[in-house]
Amino acid sequence: MLARAVAEDLGVSSMIVHTRAGHDSTLARMLDGALTPDPRSRPPVSSSTEWKDRLVPPRTSCDRGRMRTQVAIVGAGPAGLLLSHLLDRAGVESVIVETRSRAYVEARIRAGILEQSTVDLLHEVGLGARLAAEGDEHRGIYLQWPGERHHLDFVDLVGRSVTVYGQTEVTKDLGRAREAAGQEIRYEVTDTAVHDIETDHPYVTFTGPDGTAERLDADVVVGCDGSFGPCRAAVPDSAKQSWERAYPYSWLGVLADVAPSTDELIYAWHPDGFAMHSMRSATVSRLYLQVPNGTDIADWSDDRIWDGLATRLGHGENGWTLTPGPLTEKSVLPMRSFVQQPMRHGRLFLAGDAAHIVPPTGAKGLNLAVADVAMLAPALAALLRDKEPALADAYSDAALRRVWRCTHFSWWMTTMLHQSGDPFDAQLQLSQLRWVAQSTAGRTGLAENYAGLPIGF
Ligand SMILES: Cc1cc2nc3c(=O)[nH]c(=O)nc-3n(C[C@H](O)[C@H](O)[C@H](O)COP(=O)(O)OP(=O)(O)OC[C@H]3O[C@@H](n4cnc5c(N)ncnc54)[C@H](O)[C@@H]3O)c2cc1C
Repeated sequence: MLARAVAEDLGVSSMIVHTRAGHDSTLARMLDGALTPDPRSRPPVSSSTEWKDRLVPPRTSCDRGRMRTQVAIVGAGPAGLLLSHLLDRAGVESVIVETRSRAYVEARIRAGILEQSTVDLLHEVGLGARLAAEGDEHRGIYLQWPGERHHLDFVDLVGRSVTVYGQTEVTKDLGRAREAAGQEIRYEVTDTAVHDIETDHPYVTFTGPDGTAERLDADVVVGCDGSFGPCRAAVPDSAKQSWERAYPYSWLGVLADVAPSTDELIYAWHPDGFAMHSMRSATVSRLYLQVPNGTDIADWSDDRIWDGLATRLGHGENGWTLTPGPLTEKSVLPMRSFVQQPMRHGRLFLAGDAAHIVPPTGAKGLNLAVADVAMLAPALAALLRDKEPALADAYSDAALRRVWRCTHFSWWMTTMLHQSGDPFDAQLQLSQLRWVAQSTAGRTGLAENYAGLPIGF
């Protein structure tokens, strides 16, 4: 049950878990005005008490609670929470429904690398205080293969950096901000379904934690419900197209209570398989090993994991050492790429993992979710507040341009660094890695994509 729940959270079909214990000018234009609160247009409802006054009487005789809002958001992950935050700043009201508890959502171990645009946006919208204090800005990454380690300095190459700050922390910051603003979030709901999305009166139905059937009427529904939510599937087959690539390997990921053995992330190509040394804080390391699909975590003792990491990451080479420590979490994550388009159908909009999944090698999933809602919030504000549909009409195409760029980059990083089992592929990978590490054009291309192209690119 736990494994299934976490697998769904990670956007994968199967997973085994063991637990022991520079904001760009385009964005500026989109944010200017569109996200400026307009008190005149804000509905006269913001607190939960006032919400009760807006309950519409049940349409049918059954015991069914009924609410109305401007934007019904399905999913309180980073995309849903940030969207409600941005909409609130623009004077647009929303209600979020979420299957999990708040504690569960905030404890979910996932992404840890924020692009420059994500960091800039979080600061811009008042969510940057703890990020500034506790986030760890990195100038770049290390790229290595046996005998060679190269530092790619993104700041020197493209003037942008990345910041190590866990998705857990982003979600906590968002949760606190939404709570302070009186945001209506219905946690622990079941049976979520979206209806009438091809009309101007879409609605969401769900069952509350006490078993009450409820209905949420809205002007717009946004699916921020990740890869297993109902929204993506609500788009009729005749109106959508999708692409998927399943990779023939998985990641065994661990969290370790030990100070990182590196100042910045190490991406390591090795004949035994890819390895990565990341981190969450000055005292917590995050490490990954490429393993075959279907790997049973029980076959990987802590000692075997540390031995594999030491070999692949180059322990003892050129004076570098890997310090092991207690493992607090282990999981196996299959990897896939997936895109569904368009990201809008009628009055249903999709954002984040609900529309696209990338393998984590490029550190793009969370950042893409942020970029989607950074574009969607001003579009919905213009649509609902100003009755101006142009940005909403352009949302899917605009978001998909970035989605496909990040899908390509994530695929490129993944296929360049993982062993496919084909010796010809391995020689091509090494050739590519040498070019990326040693040519200014190669280094710059990786840096530009990794540190993140501007939102709206
Ligand atoms: C191991 C791992 C490492 C990663 N590393 C990185 C990284 O370094 N950088 C990066 O940018 N990204 C990374 N990612 C990807 C990133 O975590 C996701 O892309 C991100 O969580 C997407 O946010 P989201 O809000 O779109 O979806 P989610 O975070 O999946 O949120 C969706 C929400 O919808 C809820 N929901 C689902 N179904 C329903 C329903 N029926 N009704 C109501 N609510 C529902 C879910 O409970 C969830 O809270 C990583 C992912 C994994 C698994």
